[in-house]
Amino acid sequence: MDQAASYHSKMGSDLKKVKDEVLRCKKCQLYKTRIHPVIGQGNHQAKICLIGEAPGANEDKTGWPFCGQAGKVLDELLDSTGIKREEIYITNILKCRPPGNRNPLKNEIDACSDYLLRQLVIIKPEAICCLGNFATQFIMEKFDLSDKVASIGRIHGQAFSASRKGYGQLHIIPLYHPAAVTYNIGMKETLIKDFRILKRF
Ligand code: URA
Ligand code: SF4
Repeated sequence: MDQAASYHSKMGSDLKKVKDEVLRCKKCQLYKTRIHPVIGQGNHQAKICLIGEAPGANEDKTGWPFCGQAGKVLDELLDSTGIKREEIYITNILKCRPPGNRNPLKNEIDACSDYLLRQLVIIKPEAICCLGNFATQFIMEKFDLSDKVASIGRIHGQAFSASRKGYGQLHIIPLYHPAAVTYNIGMKETLIKDFRILKRF
């Protein structure tokens, strides 16, 4: 089903509602400097959701998640598992780009995260993959795994069982952010190995 057609379903119309709200959102200061918010992309019935940090320059220009350098790495990682982008759903904690790609601020995450949580309730994935420290910490805390939160270097590639009212039973999987490969090429092997866990879903 293409994206337009799928908006006719209840699930699609609920996601479209989130999209329309994000498009006119001014809940934090990032609306002033963004070009396009990045809402999310992929299959509304996805078993796997990938959560990144925030749009970068390319994403800001196009409105699509992971379409720049980190996206190229992500595509290679997905290729290595045989999973296609169209089968999963990809979005970020922040829908608008922080200027100069600085880290998200707490008040921005607090303002924006309701959109992500609503997207997740609608899609109800079996696995949420958190790319990098920000997504990992945010999602694990929301899914009552605060006691298991540690730096991504310690918990990457593990699947944590979680459940939360409205979401049902699911797995939370922390992974290194694909952009880490840009700084450390050795990271790619680790990411390829960790991404194999997605084949379970
Ligand atoms: N990095 C992210 O975390 N998300 C994107 O969409 C692109 C780069
Ligand atoms: Fe709204 Fe989120 Fe964009 Fe801030 S980052 S303006 S909360 S959509």
